[in-house]
Amino acid sequence: MSNEIPLSTLIRRTPWPDGAHAAMGTPLQPSVVYTSADPDALDAQYLRGHGYTYAREGHPNASVLAQKLDLLEGGKGGLVLGSGMAAATAILCGLLNSGEHVLGGDQLYGRTLRLMSQDLPRWGIETSFADPTNIAAMEAAMQPNTKMIIVEVVANPTLRIADINGIAALAKARNALLVIDNTFTTPAALRGFDLGADIVFHSVTKLLSGHSDATLGYAVARDPELQHKIRDMAVTMGLTPSPFDCWLAERGLFTFDLRYERASANAAMLAEELSSHEMVKQVIYPGRSDHPDAARATELLGGAFGNMLSFELQGGRDAANRFVHAAQDLPFAPTLGDVATTLSHPASSSHRGLSSEARLALGITEGFFRLSVGIEPPEYLKSVVQSALKRC
Ligand SMILES: *Cc1c(COP(=O)(O)O)cnc(C)c1O
Repeated sequence: MSNEIPLSTLIRRTPWPDGAHAAMGTPLQPSVVYTSADPDALDAQYLRGHGYTYAREGHPNASVLAQKLDLLEGGKGGLVLGSGMAAATAILCGLLNSGEHVLGGDQLYGRTLRLMSQDLPRWGIETSFADPTNIAAMEAAMQPNTKMIIVEVVANPTLRIADINGIAALAKARNALLVIDNTFTTPAALRGFDLGADIVFHSVTKLLSGHSDATLGYAVARDPELQHKIRDMAVTMGLTPSPFDCWLAERGLFTFDLRYERASANAAMLAEELSSHEMVKQVIYPGRSDHPDAARATELLGGAFGNMLSFELQGGRDAANRFVHAAQDLPFAPTLGDVATTLSHPASSSHRGLSSEARLALGITEGFFRLSVGIEPPEYLKSVVQSALKRC
């Protein structure tokens, strides 16, 4: 190798061999720090804003992943963060000031709800929530100091569809930023910027990464100045992603389109299968004509109805316990977006903190389940679900 130079001591890095740059796979770069030629070179690097100095401020594996996510969302200069909640935190804390108000959809992800209801008020940021399927309720909840509206287009686990066109028009008319958490829907079903969002964010942990082995988030703003503020907040708070997780997520993204297509087809098939069973009281899937927001789902999702499916069993908690035991081949785990189909029971997991009245108001009974449908062969999934229903 041409660049081999004798090492003076073991306590120096061995030069990386020539030819290594032609690797077809993306290298994993865990280095925390980067050297510079001299102070002028370091100045030039800070001025240009490229290159790397310290991993909390950026590293190559995060940059590589961010470019792929930018391509998916149709954004520019997006930021990869250490989790979906890191993205939510950087956006809310980076862009809102004390004395301002943010309006959230009332079925946001549980930790986003908690950040907004318990933490932001401690810092003087006012928050409130309204039903995003009801534009009149959203409008009524706006205040003169509302600076931001934050919503998910498809709610977990009721799969209700927000009136996002109405909300985008409202945000525009009142000069508030519209933030969309696009984790559930993914850019395969809709792109936040096309719907009028100013900022889009993700838990990359879920469908995008897809293998339940990387915890990451992503945030992209249409306006570079807002993106800059989000980045500064993330770097200051240390909401940095791990290079290894970025490397895994990039690998996951190569198959995102294929996984999404297969998982969505499986979900549509299971929705049909479940709906014809006498033990099943109701099936909630955006592609079904009996979905409460069916027309909006068709208009917004353009046929990409996704991998998430909810259903309600007859017979309450006892039947729910029996179903989980009988469906031993479906991991009972409160996450979503894995290659494997996972089963979750919101009343005992994501929504356990609510009173039973509040749960019932959302339709979450003891027999209510959510399936995050994976990419297994359809016949296999069908038989697992059929035999579990028979035994419950
Ligand atoms: C999981 C999730 C989050 C939080 O993401 P983490 O990566 O777990 O921090 C935010 N929003 C939605 C819709 C989620 O499903």
